[in-house]
Amino acid sequence: MKMIILDRDGVINHDSPAFIKSPAEWVPIPGSLEAIARLNQAGYRVVIASNQSGIARELFDMTILNAIHQKLHANAQTVGATIDAIFFCPHAAIDNCDCRKPKAGMFEEISKRFKVSLKGVPTVGDSLRDLQAGFKTGCVPYLVLTGKGQKTFETGGLPPGTQVFADLAAMVGALLKTPLPPAGGTH
Ligand SMILES: [Mg+2]
Ligand SMILES: [Zn+2]
Repeated sequence: MKMIILDRDGVINHDSPAFIKSPAEWVPIPGSLEAIARLNQAGYRVVIASNQSGIARELFDMTILNAIHQKLHANAQTVGATIDAIFFCPHAAIDNCDCRKPKAGMFEEISKRFKVSLKGVPTVGDSLRDLQAGFKTGCVPYLVLTGKGQKTFETGGLPPGTQVFADLAAMVGALLKTPLPPAGGTH
């Protein structure tokens, strides 16, 4: 099975320093959903791993997060894209949970749920903590310059081997021309 793990805000949709806290505020980055459709066509399972501390901060609740993700799925469908699963951490840093990136908990859950090793699985993020979380579980890190990506790039300290692309569409274009070996295999 081929898999790719994507951050959500700043990778698939425009990010906001004030959080994405309603379906109306969820607006896709041009080309991102089409890029996901290309991944699907190339046989990739597409999984999202997203920190959503706005829940812990009570900026929005689970009903609203579900509505946001319904919009995400519906918008994806219009271009033939499928998101196989959305994993999210609802906690704040102060909760000291195991799932909030840069911790690897969500990635470990993805590995368990899909029964795959994440070794060699591409992971795409716009923040350092996205790449760190993936790197801990053997993923190949990709930074996109959308969202917080430009700032992340300028700050530096990226995990070794991080590749940098303008946006998800550019990353996917490069990935599909130079396919990685199949991820992990089942166990
Ligand atoms: Mg992000
Ligand atoms: Zn968490």
